Amino acid sequence: MFESTFSESILKRAQDQELINIDLHDLREYTLDKHKKTDDYPFGGGVGLIMSIDPIVRAIETIKETRPDVRSILLSPGGKAFNQKMAWELSREENLIFVCGRYEGVDERVLNFVDDAISIGDYVMGGGEIPTMVLIEAISRLIPNVVGDQSSLVEESFECNRLEYPQYTKPREYRGLKVPEVLLSGNHKKIQDWRLKEALKKTAEIRPDLLSKEAKKGD
Ligand code: SAM
Repeated sequence: MFESTFSESILKRAQDQELINIDLHDLREYTLDKHKKTDDYPFGGGVGLIMSIDPIVRAIETIKETRPDVRSILLSPGGKAFNQKMAWELSREENLIFVCGRYEGVDERVLNFVDDAISIGDYVMGGGEIPTMVLIEAISRLIPNVVGDQSSLVEESFECNRLEYPQYTKPREYRGLKVPEVLLSGNHKKIQDWRLKEALKKTAEIRPDLLSKEAKKGD
């Protein structure tokens, strides 16, 4: 699952240039029984299987032997909602562990052995692998030199609690839909003003919650 994402585009380049390094750890390698069992039935009954605590804790502790400063994160629908601010914060960490759950989730006591639990949104995925890839891509883009033009990061959606302004490319007109005239004017001040106005308008329409967050920041 991870290979396709990690061997393409930005994440591939970042690894080739040694700006990031990603290691995969198979939890079965951290089991002690001969069947390499990583899950079991839930106490109290109920459907499905729960991932056992021991292989997860052993994996975290083994990794910590060589990287004591590592910050560990459990991917969980019950975690804090991931956002761009968290992506910036995590991009400053030297080492990160992402623990991926499967089946009906992980033994709740795992929370005592990780630093955070993070959710990618209010919906349930089949496993923590895709959520982990979401985090790795969002975080890696913010590490210096991973994205070619660093200035492009500053104006993106969610920076300053607003969505990005609308963007256009050729053709100037498509099926009667014209690119706003101001963008063709060459007047940088006017373009800047228009972009800010449109970003605020779009945010107010689609994500008014972001504008209230920005207002609270100023309080
Ligand atoms: N029974 C769990 C519940 O209701 O909260 C859902 C378990 S889910 C099928 C299996 C695993 O997928 C989770 O342990 C977690 O690692 C991952 N996962 C699913 N949805 C996620 C989300 N929104 N954010 C982060 N991880 C998620």
